[in-house]
Amino acid sequence: ILNICWLIKINVRETIMTRINQRWLLNKRPEGMPEDDCWKWEEVDVPELKDGEILIKSLYLSIDPYMRGRMNDAMSYTGPVQIGDVMVGESAGIVIDSKSDNFKPDDYVCVHGGWQSYVAVRGDGPELFKADPDIVPLSTYLGTVGMPGRTAYFGLTRLGKPKEGETVVVSAASGAVGTVVGQIAKILNCRAVGIAGGDVKCSYVTDELGFDACIDYKGGNLEQDLKQACPDGIDVYFENVGGEVTKAVAKLLNPGSRVPICGFVSKYNSRDIMNEETPFDVFGTMRPKPKHRFFVVTEWFDHWADATKELSGWIKEGKIKYRETVTDGLINAPQALRDVLSGKNFGKQLVKVADE
Ligand code: NDP
Repeated sequence: ILNICWLIKINVRETIMTRINQRWLLNKRPEGMPEDDCWKWEEVDVPELKDGEILIKSLYLSIDPYMRGRMNDAMSYTGPVQIGDVMVGESAGIVIDSKSDNFKPDDYVCVHGGWQSYVAVRGDGPELFKADPDIVPLSTYLGTVGMPGRTAYFGLTRLGKPKEGETVVVSAASGAVGTVVGQIAKILNCRAVGIAGGDVKCSYVTDELGFDACIDYKGGNLEQDLKQACPDGIDVYFENVGGEVTKAVAKLLNPGSRVPICGFVSKYNSRDIMNEETPFDVFGTMRPKPKHRFFVVTEWFDHWADATKELSGWIKEGKIKYRETVTDGLINAPQALRDVLSGKNFGKQLVKVADE
């Protein structure tokens, strides 16, 4: 009886209380590393739902390197966030109200709703997915079985096309994408070599994830160490970082090698990104050229569900392991992004927005 009274009390409180939506807006365009004044914190009422919409309470927010690019006033594969708009991002949360036939309260979902604690969206929106925390924990839908995991899966299998016995090298190897690339390479019976910053990250990549080797690019001996780790050269390089790492890898690429260019995070804070040397400059001037191209994970949008299923299967079988860095509180999202852009994160970077 006490429990029932308690539940009624909570429900009444929820319905009579006006919910407050906390959110981060883009305040100004950064130069270099984005400081706190690039964003503005705002608290507003949660909007009334219109027909066809659902209200999601955000529980986890994904923090990703691409967010830095969206803060610039420049077109990349998609447009910039406008000043005054909610900062872009995907979150995983729970439906708390629904005027859509597609979702009901207590459904778990992933949504591109930005840096805010409540998200109201149409229930038939294109990038709105159900998540099932009975299969893998909710946060994993933003990481290993979410966008980063799918990026690794499609970039490696569709463009890298590794064959058994080949050597696959991946940079940012201890991160959200890199961990999955190397572990899929092992599942496909390849030699997996990671590149990461520091001893601790490298030990994790070899000892816990089972890569064959991992090179600390901050160790001062990158070219020599990489050569030693890749005695038969490199057949597939999964590019995540650019810069000196790219140049060292380029020297070891075998004829016929493939280079899926996923990103080049070392340049994202550049004040003059148009004049930076990119992986395209490095690989495009090589003779023979490796087969290389930039890709966006949405190219395989129609097959996302297959990737989610296969990746969660591998997690269940213990073939794919992962790690998360969870920063507490939406208020700390700016620092979490700075951590990703400076390598302070270890594995998938998330922000815990609220308890269920
Ligand atoms: P990670 O979890 O790997 O975090 C970023 C990592 O980048 C850091 O932990 C750090 O690792 C490394 N890093 C940061 N600064 C530098 C630097 N100056 N030089 C070298 N390494 C640096 O992020 P994700 O896994 O989410 O993303 C990895 C890459 O994939 C990024 O380039 C991102 O833009 C790209 N991406 C592309 C997508 C696409 O569709 N094309 C989709 C998703 C991601 P360390 O400490 O080891 O240096």
